[in-house]
Amino acid sequence: MAFILTLEQKRERSPYYYFGPSKHAAASTCLWTKKALTGEGYCYKMTFYGIQSHRCIQWSPCPVHCNYACRFCWRDTSIHSPVWEGPIDDAEILVEESVKAFNHLLNGYPGNKNTIAKRMEQSRDPIHTAISLDGEPTLYPELPALIRAFHKRRITTFLVTNGSNPAMLRLLEEEDSLPTQVYISLSAWDEASFKTIQQPLQPGLWAHYLESLDWMRQANHDRRVLRMTLAKGLNLSDESLEGFANIIRRSGAEYVEVKSYTPVGKSRLRMGPDFAPTHEDMQQAAQTLAKKTDYLVTAEHKPSQVVLLCRDEKAKTNRMLKLRELCGEQRAYN
Ligand code: SF4
Repeated sequence: MAFILTLEQKRERSPYYYFGPSKHAAASTCLWTKKALTGEGYCYKMTFYGIQSHRCIQWSPCPVHCNYACRFCWRDTSIHSPVWEGPIDDAEILVEESVKAFNHLLNGYPGNKNTIAKRMEQSRDPIHTAISLDGEPTLYPELPALIRAFHKRRITTFLVTNGSNPAMLRLLEEEDSLPTQVYISLSAWDEASFKTIQQPLQPGLWAHYLESLDWMRQANHDRRVLRMTLAKGLNLSDESLEGFANIIRRSGAEYVEVKSYTPVGKSRLRMGPDFAPTHEDMQQAAQTLAKKTDYLVTAEHKPSQVVLLCRDEKAKTNRMLKLRELCGEQRAYN
């Protein structure tokens, strides 16, 4: 007899801080938030776009809901539900609670002797959110209201989707709720590699993925991003780079993040260190993709092993966020 976990049991198996009335949302402090507080550096999103890591809420409205089981996923994909289960918390409440969760998770930091007091004080007032911790956020039905509620609080939004739900992307645009920066993940270049690498949990998702790319191409937005995860022996070959170049051209994305797989979390059980490329591999892959697509190799962040490609000079010039406009003069201080 199959053993089916309840939502509560699934949550107990994941290492996050769950919040909201039904506890389907969760936050976690990322390594770079901690490093920024102690002056040890910033996340690549600071280098590429001006995101202040110590003021960025990393969270997900639905960490146990995802319709893929990617081989490189650092989470426990065996607990993923491909469709929504359980109650749906109100978007405004989740936004409020996500700010509280972020402050709660940083509670211990004022006591750390290396914490920079000014940054600690700034972190009490987050101005960014990365909706990307775990799970597939477009499965949360109230996503447009969620994005609007963050923007009402003048918090910038980076939304990372796996591309499986073009209907939600269209809805975000129709409801004037596009995130500050919209990402689609890119790790497979055709249907066969998609099935092997991203292991969809439902039929027809490659067609949905292509629809999402086509949505991206026509979307009325100028901060569209493809985020690649590249691993040796998986998707880092001449054939795959040729396929990725076709996808990049098809998407029209302003930015492409050429990022290496890192053997962390549960992915180590499926892949491990032999699959981990070096930063030099990423530089080489970025150069190859740039030649094939005419994109510009623009920036890199060695500790995260990621290289940024910009579509053209305009995208390159606009890549840093205009924080004063987005978050308000008083809150945009450095
Ligand atoms: S789409 Fe994201 S959360 Fe879902 S399995 Fe892949 S990496 Fe993990």
